[in-house]
Amino acid sequence: MYSEKLRNLEERNLLRYLKDRDSAQGPKVRFNGREYINFSSNDYLGLANHPYLIEKVKKTLDEYGFGSGASRLLSGGTVLHKHLEEKVAQFKDTESSLVFNSGYAANTGVIPALADEDTALFSDELNHASIIDGCRLSTARTLVYRHKDVAHLEELMKKEGPKKKIILTDTVFSMDGDIAPLRELTDICKNYDAVLYLDEAHATGVIGHGKGALAHFALRPEPWIIQMGTFSKALGSFGAFLAGTSGVALWLLNNARSFMFSTALPSCVVAASLAALELIENNSLLINRLWENRERAARGIKNIGYDIMKSVTPIIPVKTGTIENTLNMSNYLFEKGIFAPSIRPPTVKEPRIRINITAAHTDEDIEMLIEALKKA
Ligand code: PMP
Repeated sequence: MYSEKLRNLEERNLLRYLKDRDSAQGPKVRFNGREYINFSSNDYLGLANHPYLIEKVKKTLDEYGFGSGASRLLSGGTVLHKHLEEKVAQFKDTESSLVFNSGYAANTGVIPALADEDTALFSDELNHASIIDGCRLSTARTLVYRHKDVAHLEELMKKEGPKKKIILTDTVFSMDGDIAPLRELTDICKNYDAVLYLDEAHATGVIGHGKGALAHFALRPEPWIIQMGTFSKALGSFGAFLAGTSGVALWLLNNARSFMFSTALPSCVVAASLAALELIENNSLLINRLWENRERAARGIKNIGYDIMKSVTPIIPVKTGTIENTLNMSNYLFEKGIFAPSIRPPTVKEPRIRINITAAHTDEDIEMLIEALKKA
C-alpha cells in the first residue's frame, strides 16, 4: 500500500532511515563499531551520561523499582515527582509546575486544554511540530505568523476581534538556533490581554544562565505567561514540565489528556531530572563552557565562508542549498568521522546541516569539524 509513496520519497531524496548507536550518548559516539565526533545531540551540557545523574538513578532504582504502573492521577507518581515540580517552580520562579512525559506530550496535551472554540491561537511559522500538532488537536482557530514578525502577528491579532488570544512560540528555535523576540511579544500580550505560551525545550539549561528565555531578556514570569520546557535536552534526562500559576497547573492536571491518560514517568527518570537541575544551579562553569565552545565553532565555521543563517545559540545550521548537496555533505563528514545530520523537508523548508555544539566537546573536536567543513 505504501510502496509507491516510499518510492516517491526515495526519488526525492527524502526517505529517512534510523541510525542507532552502539555507545552511550556523548561528544563521541559509535556506529557499527566506528567512533564519530557527535554534533547531532541536544545534550548541550553533556549531562546525559554524567556520573551524578547515573548515581541518583541507580539509588532511586533500588528504592522505587523501575515501572511506575499507572498515571499520576492513579498514584503512578511518587514524592519525587512532587519534589521535581517544586524544584521546577523554584527554578523558574513560578507558583507551580506540572511534569509531563515528554515535550511532545506536553505541547499536544496542554494547548488543546488551554484553548477552546472561543480562542484564537497565534503560532510562529517555525514552531516545533509538537506545537503545530497541539494547535491541530485543539478546537481553536490557529493563525500562523511569519517567523518572528511581530508586525504581522499584530495585524492578525487585530482581525480576530474580542476572542481569547494565545501567542505560541519556541524561545530558541530548534532548527535555526535564533531566539524569539520576547520583549516585543510580551508588550503585544499586554496590549491585547493575550496569554504567552513559551516552548523552552532548547532554552532550558542554555540561555539566561540556564533558566531560559525570560531570564535571558530580564523579564518576569508573569501570571499570563505559561512556560513549557524539557528535561530531555540540556538536562540530559527525559520528560517535560509546565511552569505557571497554581490555577493553570490544576486546570491542566484535570484537562490535559496526555497528562491524564498516560503512565507516569519512572521515578529514576524523575531523579535524573532533579539531579540535573541541582548540577546546573551549582555549576555555572558548564554553561560557560558551552558558550565558549559555541563561539569558537560559530566563528570558525563563518570564517571559512559558510552561512550559519540567524544562529545565535549552540544550534548552528549550515546552509547547504539543495537536498542533494546536504546529503552529500553529511555523508562526506560521516566518512571523515564526524556525525552532523542533514535536515530536510518536511522538518525545514530550506535544507541544512544542523550542528549542535555542547559543553562536552573539546577544542580538538571543534577544530576537526572546521577542518572537515573546509574540505567538504
Ligand atoms: N519542542 C521543541 C522545540 C523541540 O525541539 C522538541 C524535541 N525535538 C520538543 C518540543 C519535544 O520534546 P521531547 O523530545 O521531550 O518530546
